[in-house]
Amino acid sequence: MGLKRLTVNLRIAVVQLNPQIGHLEETVVRAHSLVRRVERYQPDIVVFPEFALSGYSFHSRAEISAHLCRPQEGPAWEFCQQISRKLSCVTVMGYPERGDNQQAYNSALVVDEEGKLAFNYRKSFLYDTDEEWQCAENPAGFQAFELPLKGKARDHDGHVHDVKLRSAIGICMDLSPYKFKAPFQECEFSTYQLEHGTELLIVPMAWLHASSVTRDTADPATGKAEIARTMDQLGLPLHGSQNQFQVNIKLRDGTCEEECPGNGTLTSAPSDAGVASSYSDLSRPDQQNLDYWTIRFMPFLACKWRENWFVEKALKPILAKFKGSRFTYLGSSLKAPWLFENKNALLVLCNRCGAEDGATVYAGSSGFLKFNGQYGNEEEILNSSNRSVELLGNLGKGYEGVIVRDVSFEIER
Ligand code: GLN
Repeated sequence: MGLKRLTVNLRIAVVQLNPQIGHLEETVVRAHSLVRRVERYQPDIVVFPEFALSGYSFHSRAEISAHLCRPQEGPAWEFCQQISRKLSCVTVMGYPERGDNQQAYNSALVVDEEGKLAFNYRKSFLYDTDEEWQCAENPAGFQAFELPLKGKARDHDGHVHDVKLRSAIGICMDLSPYKFKAPFQECEFSTYQLEHGTELLIVPMAWLHASSVTRDTADPATGKAEIARTMDQLGLPLHGSQNQFQVNIKLRDGTCEEECPGNGTLTSAPSDAGVASSYSDLSRPDQQNLDYWTIRFMPFLACKWRENWFVEKALKPILAKFKGSRFTYLGSSLKAPWLFENKNALLVLCNRCGAEDGATVYAGSSGFLKFNGQYGNEEEILNSSNRSVELLGNLGKGYEGVIVRDVSFEIER
């Protein structure tokens, strides 16, 4: 009773970087120049990728050891503090964490406007590469936390409110099925966040492009040769593009800045249209990944089949299998066909770009998705064309850059 609907207005900047192991200083310089491009717009939150400054592809504990830091020490902490204080913003950044007792984690810092540590999240679901350096899983599992924001919410009468936004960090593989083995439709991360009423989801990533050589690649040598040939055709070194910045800023007051390396088109390689896995059109987002990320948030997506399913009472036996560990499945609870109906949530995806080891190509495509909680009885198609998902903008797959948006969404208090 007495819940009020408030509109939250935030300006968020997402920085896409191509960090290489052993080149920390250069990465810090590029990260600073990207922040400088947007500082006059005074973003409320600035987000950086997983392992944003260190590079991602470590292959042993010995190799990563010198890069591990306690949360409030080292280059990521110093960088975030600097940005937070200079811009009076919240800064989020992925980094390799040194834990107690020889533990190491893949973590992300949340630093508040004053430069204080607001939250430190550790990745829960690990990717193959994390396991190569004996990364430990987050002992707490998925988490949600309250992010205090001053004066960012308004009620219908125009009164301004301070709010604690229900927020969460997910790091890359957290979005995927556990060890790629759990049933796809269990949507572990998004189910947890739906059940916890999370309103702001921030996801730093080092998400792979489909052209990467992985444990599933049938012929790794040919795969690597293909990557080398593609980078060569694009006129890029084997590690991909650095220092060619894509800038994409669209604000409520009409401010619009768009800057695209190479005029946005690269004619030397075929476009995405035909071969889904081709690494081309670097200034355009990777549709395959956008659709995949979207469907991993199935509990937040409109889907008319839920109503039937609910009516047929198929849900009860399914939920019983989880023995009380969850009360929703694919977004349905026993009380509501769609728990998210009429709610809002904002998803901020911050991926890296470039390539490492001549084998791992990253998918970039950082940007924003808003789940609007509408069209629950209408939508059938579960990808980014579903009308309950608003695509607020994405960077391309291959260039470093920054995207800024004014986002607004409703919460209840
Ligand atoms: N599922 C992710 C991918 O395939 C995992 C990568 C990561 O956790 N960095 O890219």
